[in-house]
Amino acid sequence: MTNYQSPISPGRSWYEDSCGERPTYPSLDGDVTADVAIVGGGFCGLSAALHLAKAGTKVALIDAHRFGDGASGRNGGQMGSGPRGGVVELQDQLGFERTKALWDMAEDAKRNLLDTAEEFAFDPDYQVGQLTPMHKQRYEREARHEAELLNAKYGYDQISYLDQEQMAQALGSRAYFGGTRDSGTGHIHPMKYLIGLAAAAQSTGAQIFENSKALSVDKQGTGFDVKTPSGTIRAERVLLALNGYHGDLRSELASHVMPIQSFIGATAPLGDNSPVLPAKEAVDDSRFVVRYFRKSKDNRLLFGGREAYGKSQPGDIEATIRRQISEIYPDLSDTEITHAWGGNVAITMPRMPYVREFEPGLWSAGGFSGHGVMLSNYTGRMVAEQFLGKSDQINLLKELDIPSFPGGRWLRDPLKVLALTWYAMLDRV
Ligand SMILES: Cc1cc2nc3c(=O)[nH]c(=O)nc-3n(C[C@H](O)[C@H](O)[C@H](O)COP(=O)(O)OP(=O)(O)OC[C@H]3O[C@@H](n4cnc5c(N)ncnc54)[C@H](O)[C@@H]3O)c2cc1C
Repeated sequence: MTNYQSPISPGRSWYEDSCGERPTYPSLDGDVTADVAIVGGGFCGLSAALHLAKAGTKVALIDAHRFGDGASGRNGGQMGSGPRGGVVELQDQLGFERTKALWDMAEDAKRNLLDTAEEFAFDPDYQVGQLTPMHKQRYEREARHEAELLNAKYGYDQISYLDQEQMAQALGSRAYFGGTRDSGTGHIHPMKYLIGLAAAAQSTGAQIFENSKALSVDKQGTGFDVKTPSGTIRAERVLLALNGYHGDLRSELASHVMPIQSFIGATAPLGDNSPVLPAKEAVDDSRFVVRYFRKSKDNRLLFGGREAYGKSQPGDIEATIRRQISEIYPDLSDTEITHAWGGNVAITMPRMPYVREFEPGLWSAGGFSGHGVMLSNYTGRMVAEQFLGKSDQINLLKELDIPSFPGGRWLRDPLKVLALTWYAMLDRV
């Protein structure tokens, strides 16, 4: 499987070449009965499976491909803080109480991510720190206000404002103005995390299957039949955990959750004396089409910043990433890029997750628009704890107002491309 290529995401990722052994799991062969069926084996589905199985629930999970072929094995690895970027904006929309509850949930999500790795003894290469530099000077005031608000009203003192000079030192680049430093979060190797999570789910008794695509989910008596080409799972409850790969399994997902593609490149190791990111903090900048980058443990620059909308092809990912790297680190303009890859992220109208119970017992969780690394994991856990009657914290997400995208089935994609291209253009003015 050395040159294995995800059938649903472009390019072979550096993570696949640095994760160690990537175990394979059987496909579903025959019929299985379970308390809960889970469709989708990324962070969200596997985390739900782990927490259900750990509590003694009989759970069967299927993925259409290999675990990690979707976004969870291929992302930027940055955890962030809060339910998404920008608490000030969220507070304007939802008010302080709800925003604070969502903030606290996201802090639980951070802890859950790292505690799970510790409990099941796997090492996801966690590194501390995240910088958010402003690409326009007029945004500096907002960054300072964000940090002050989090310090004063959210009890979060691990974020601070850096002026332009301090930011230049932290980045090893003068391409930005001031911004924030968050020492209460960090970044991980997502494929190592995914592999550890799948092993943990299996070790607690979850039945997990790869290369087993759900063709349909139908109500059958008091439960549901989840049909695959080679067997059926009959379960009392179902969780769909498909995020940006939902295809047309449910029309509600097609109208509320839009897949878009994001791309990353990895350079060859930069050497121990490189001035780039001396403290190995992660970076996500202030652009609408955010540039996110960080150094791996072995000193590669992992750089993401290109997106593609609608049915457009990724084009030359390496050339775009090289241009973006050169704008920030001109000395790296000729550095070898060893890997270039991408995957689907999911957006919703308010850029918040879309969690719903479509009918009694049939749940769906996805639409993670930013901070999905920690939130998808924790959302899986929150759904599990709801099923177990242990906690109803998931209602914080379930009750969010997530309108459908305008334009109906045929107009939706062209309108999306138009809107996103417009916002991407604003990054440049
Ligand atoms: C390039 C890139 C960079 C990113 N960077 C970051 C970052 O730095 N920080 C951050 O927080 N987030 C980031 N994200 C987003 C983050 O990766 C996602 O939010 C998160 O991984 C979603 O996890 P998930 O389990 O919901 O979905 P996924 O991991 O995408 O899993 C969905 C799974 O569903 C399966 N599936 C689809 N249809 C079927 C079917 N019919 N039957 C069975 N299985 C099916 C797919 O095969 C897939 O494995 C990034 C994403 C990408 C692509």
